[in-house]
Formats: sequence, structure tokens, C-alpha cells
Amino acid sequence: MSPCPTPDQAVQGTAPGICRLGHYIGGKYRPQNSARTGPVYEPASGMLRAELGYAGRDEVETAVSVAAAAFPAWAGLPPLRRARVLFRYREILETQRAALAELITREHGKTLEDAHGELQRGIEVVEFACGIPHLLKGEYSDSVSAGVDSWSLRQPLGVCLGITPFNFPAMVPMWMYPIAIACGNTFVLKPSEKDPSCPLRLAELFTEAGLPAGVFNVVNGDQETVNALLAEPRVAAVSFVGSTPVAEHIYSVAGRNGKRVQALGGAKNHLVVMPDADLERAADALIGSAYGSAGERCMSISVAVAVGAAADPLVANLAARARALRIGPGHQLNVDMGPLVTPDHRKRVRSYIEVGLAEGAVLLVDGRDCSIAGYENGFYIAPSLFDRVTPAMRIYREEIFGPVLSVVRVADLDTALELINHHEYGNGAALFTRSGGAARRFAHAAHAGMIGINIPVPVPMAFHSFGGWKRSLFGPLHIHGPDGVRFYTRLKTVTARWPETSGDNDGPDFSLPAFG
Ligand code: NAD
Repeated sequence: MSPCPTPDQAVQGTAPGICRLGHYIGGKYRPQNSARTGPVYEPASGMLRAELGYAGRDEVETAVSVAAAAFPAWAGLPPLRRARVLFRYREILETQRAALAELITREHGKTLEDAHGELQRGIEVVEFACGIPHLLKGEYSDSVSAGVDSWSLRQPLGVCLGITPFNFPAMVPMWMYPIAIACGNTFVLKPSEKDPSCPLRLAELFTEAGLPAGVFNVVNGDQETVNALLAEPRVAAVSFVGSTPVAEHIYSVAGRNGKRVQALGGAKNHLVVMPDADLERAADALIGSAYGSAGERCMSISVAVAVGAAADPLVANLAARARALRIGPGHQLNVDMGPLVTPDHRKRVRSYIEVGLAEGAVLLVDGRDCSIAGYENGFYIAPSLFDRVTPAMRIYREEIFGPVLSVVRVADLDTALELINHHEYGNGAALFTRSGGAARRFAHAAHAGMIGINIPVPVPMAFHSFGGWKRSLFGPLHIHGPDGVRFYTRLKTVTARWPETSGDNDGPDFSLPAFG
């Protein structure tokens, strides 16, 4: 059995060799007291890695109390002082990259290279947050009236909560807490129960960087833990990333409880290939974005829309490449795709392949049976490719979140746009073409929050904001970048007059003041 992530992080679990993970509250690890626990697997081998404590009301109450108590002093620090802690954090994260990537790969299953990519994207948000003195600058109007000036400022909200999915155990939490904390808030993170070790370590490293105890806390758990956190009156704002049904639940419960909320949901991203596109490049892009991280990415391409004459050569190319992918444990070299995260998830993905067959789609590459020598109990599934998928099929309409790519054949760009615009999800959409006119039209007309032109996974950089449309995002603001600063602060506008002498007083004014 694998060792525990760090000696401090774990106390011995009930089964020999299995560690038990708890929480990180008030600048230190806290063991789980209640009996509620869940398994953390190592997907590559299929072995049980740890037992994770699921927080109940007591742990939730402790974490929120600690975060609320830390808020006034942290919010009261000049933004420049907060930024200096972030600068130190960034340096520490750089030195810990390899160890953090190893934790991600071990519990998620993605390749080490991909885990490094995820960390890089997370670190870039920390870099963005280092600019917080600049980002919090308000607007100023000199002399809105004679002797009257007006300015705006952004102030933190209080205790913010982040609830995150399994597929990016480092990057998605880092979309949230570095900006929230830089803005002067304190934070409670409830990461996915499937791969909690990296988020726990990220919290410990922030303490090492000089973050005061209680500013960043990690509470592990499940649905019951989330619902206890949502009921906490001292939680001011909730950022959620996960599946659409849960996003919708969080959005309505948190909203009803008077909290500011942004809830990012699932996706079904289309990549449209025009007949004039470089088909080799388009096929490479599709293979990487459909099967990278075993399709467990919210920006994965799960639908290839082949326009006109592009279809036959594209499909032949995709089938050959999908069959050639190298499947294996993420920590090994020369592996393109690791296992799925849990046995249940693999079962779900396999069941979708059966649904597609029953619906009449043509299964060109069947990945259901996949066994890796030496890792026979790992949660592997190979790439699957469906051709002649139609919009009525469940495999087209629903998010599978696995290495299953569906090809839909259409006659023209208008029909491709109609497909995208009528789909319930609208996270990302991409077009491969050599035509500037088609590209411009697509960028304007596609109903999705993130558009790629000859780019398959158009994930915005940290200094832009990330978010989808339709049922891929509930709430008005996207995550990280400028919208992140807006989400984690509230605007205040001050209008001030400093009369020279008391003789300036004109007496009460009963009409709405009209300056100017
Ligand atoms: P999930 O919705 O099952 O879980 C997300 C989080 O919610 C976890 O922390 C989990 O413990 C908690 N949770 C689960 N069920 C809950 C419930 N009933 N009530 C309260 N909390 C609950 O998602 P997942 O399987 O961990 O992640 C995959 C999903 O996340 C996919 O749908 C994917 O598209 C989506 N995702 C979206 C984005 C985006 O930016 N839009 C990014 C990453 C992942």
C-alpha cells in the first residue's frame, strides 16, 4: 500500500497500511472525529489508498468559526502585504511542483505531464492574484459638483466557500482561493472526496508562505458536508464547479440562503471541422482534447462535427489514431491516457457505450475491454469512437465525461452552429478552418462562453475569466481573472464634500441631490 501523502496529514486508518485523511483548519491538520468516511483510490492500481473523513456539523462549525475569526485582521492588511504572502506562496509552489503533480496523478490517474499542466494553470492564477493592489484600484471622479468628489472601492465579503470537482484537484480550487484571499476574504474549501491529498497539501504550503492561520481551510466531505456549509449563515459567497445537477442545487440553495453564488456545471463541447481545414491538425486536436485526461475535463471535446467532405477522411484518421493511443498508469513514461477516477465512473462510461450501440450509432473503436499488464485491477478503459451520431441520441445530449468521442456529420456551417446553439450546455466550442470569414462568423454566432479558432481547448488564461453559457454556468459572473475580483468583492461608492466653513450650509434639501 502506498504511504500516506505526508506523515502529518494522516493518522492510521482502520485497515492495515491505509491512512486516514482529515481536514486542514486554522493552520493545522485535524483528524476526523466522526465515523463517516469514504474511500480514496489509486486508480492506476485499483488499490484503496486512504480513508477520508467526511466532516459533519461540528467540523463545519469549527472551520467557519476559524475563518470568520481570521477575517477582520486579514481584510485589514494593506493589499500589498497580502500580495507579498502570495508572492512567497508562488515561489514555494514552484519548488513543490513535482511532489504536487505526483499527488494529483496518484489519486486522479491523469498522466504526470498533464498534472504538471494543471499545476501550471493554477500557479498562473496565483501570479494574477499577486497584482491585487492594482486590481483593487477603484475609480475616482474629481469634482462631481462644486467641492464634491466621488470614488469607488472594492471591499472583501467575509468567509467564502469553494466546492470543487475531482477532475482538477489543484487547478479548480486555485481558480478560486488565491483571488478570494488576495481580495481580503478568508476561505473554506470543500474539495472532491475522490482526490483530496493535493488540496490539503496546497493549504499547508500556503501556511508555510506566511498566510495567517484560519485564512485558508480545507474541510473534506460529501453532500452532507456541503449542505451543512451552505446552511452556515457566516458564509458570504459560494463558488461551485462540478456537474450541472449539483450546480443547479447549489445555486438555488445558496441563493435562497442569501449568499452570492457562482456555479459552473457540465459540458458537451463541439469541435467543428470545415472541409477547408488542415485535417491532420484537426484530427490531432480532436484526439488530444477528446482522450486527454481520459476525457475527464470540462473542456474536453466530446462531439466532432464533420462538415461535408471533411467527414470521411477525418473519421478514418480519428479511428486509426484512437486505436494507437497508449493506455497505462499516469506515472509511467510514454503513456497518453491514464485510468478513470473510480470503478463507478468506469461503469457509468461503459454503460454510455452500450446506450450508443442501442441507439444505432456506429461504434468504430470500442474501448470497453482494456486490461493493462501488471495493473489488472486499475480502472482503465480505452478510447471509444462513435460515428453517425444524431442529436436525438442520449450519447449526444448527455455529458459522458470519459474517453468517448461522437462524430456528427452535417452539410454546412449553419447546421453545425444550430447544433451548438440548441445544445443545453454551452461551455466551449471550437472551429477548425482556413477561412477568416467562417472563423469570425463562428466566434460571433456560437452560443458558448469560450470559443477556439483552430484551438481545441480554449481555456482562458488566468488574466481573463473562465465560464460557460446556458446550463454550464449558473450566475452572472465567470471565474478567475477580472470577474474573479468582481465576485469576491463588493463595490462601494463614496461621495464626499469638505465645506470650507460652517457658513456654507444652505439648510435641508428635500429633493434628490442633483450634482453638477
Ligand atoms: P460532482 O458534481 O459530482 O461533484 C462536485 C462537488 O460537489 C464535489 O466536491 C462533491 O463532493 C460535491 N457534491 C456532489 N454531489 C453533491 C450533492 N448532491 N450535493 C452537494 N454537493 C455535492 O462533479 P465531479 O464528478 O466531481 O466532477 C465532474 C463534473 O464537473 C463534470 O460534470 C464536469 O463537466 C464538471 N466540471 C465543470 C467545470 C467547469 O468549469 N464548468 C470544470 C471542471 C469540472
